[in-house]
Amino acid sequence: MSGLGKRILVTGGAGFIGSHLCERLLNEGNEVICLDNYFTGSKENVMHLLNNPYFELVRHDVTEPYYAEVDQIYNLACPASPIHYQYNAIKTIKTSVMGAINMLGLAKRVNARILQASTSEVYGDPMIHPQVEEYWGNVNPIGIRSCYDEGKRCAETLFMDYHRQNDLEIKIIRIFNTYGPRMHRHDGRVVSNFIVQALEGKDITIYGDGSQTRSFQYVDDLVEGMIKMMHSEKTFIGPVNIGNPGEFTMLELANLILEMTNSTSAIKFLPLPNDDPKQRKPNIELAENKLNWHPSIELRSGLEKTISYFETIL
Ligand code: NAD
Ligand code: UDP
Repeated sequence: MSGLGKRILVTGGAGFIGSHLCERLLNEGNEVICLDNYFTGSKENVMHLLNNPYFELVRHDVTEPYYAEVDQIYNLACPASPIHYQYNAIKTIKTSVMGAINMLGLAKRVNARILQASTSEVYGDPMIHPQVEEYWGNVNPIGIRSCYDEGKRCAETLFMDYHRQNDLEIKIIRIFNTYGPRMHRHDGRVVSNFIVQALEGKDITIYGDGSQTRSFQYVDDLVEGMIKMMHSEKTFIGPVNIGNPGEFTMLELANLILEMTNSTSAIKFLPLPNDDPKQRKPNIELAENKLNWHPSIELRSGLEKTISYFETIL
């Protein structure tokens, strides 16, 4: 026990975002238990933390109950890339729903504050643009993305019900597309795909005509927002959008990455997957007002750091 900070459980801590969060929490003097089943995460992501005596790595699946005396829980366990969450759709929904039930049960038992890593996907293919937290979304309940979208929506419901029924201290953040070092090279999400393709001189795969938009947030900005939310006043439970409002088409993103990597890769257009949202951009006024949070890393500078990372590992 460090005796300094808090005892914090991070589920999905060996994943892309989780590993950055664990690192930051340790740097701030906390004791961290990182719980992961290594489905999409890896020990490599947290290898540099293993020497820290206040870091504990536990192989565990959140669909099974877990017990530890902790003060705070960040619930991130869930594959986030469409390729990975569709690989075993039933497992994905179990992870979101049973994982939420198990972690909420733990929070209730040990009286911990718990934060849910929800997603902009709860808005589905949004009819309101930019997306505000009051918007209930436009989600297909029976499509190929539903295992993720509906699982995350149900997790939000469970969080709210534990709060209403048991007065649990909950926090819900809706994360918009996040990128940065330690994304898996075969993660399948657009930023890592385009960078890896550009660096390897392979065709850049644009799904559809590339006119769909996303708003990309660098991982450090997200981690800052997550921690601010965890420490916010008890009555502010969210949901709150955490994302960067800069909005780009996939064609713009491809061209920017081609330019920044000096790549000669060609652009190849492939079919658009079903239910792929046409547009996405967060309204972040709530986070600005309640958390005094604003993203500080623009796409170009975040991409520079991410490209350097992939240059090192490829
Ligand atoms: P990731 O796939 O790198 O991380 C997910 C982690 O959860 C992995 O380490 C994986 O092994 C672990 N995991 C999966 N199923 C598990 C289970 N049953 N038990 C224990 N561990 C399990 O993805 P990420 O981008 O780091 O996403 C982290 C969280 O943030 C996810 O909940 C995701 O839904 C959410 N999120 C991410 C984004 C984004 O753009 N990156 C956007 C919205 C929401
Ligand atoms: N996309 C693409 N090429 C790729 C990977 C993704 O054009 O190689 C598109 C995808 O169809 C979507 C956008 O990029 O419109 C973002 O996809 P990602 O999987 O990163 O995130 P999400 O769709 O969950 O926002």
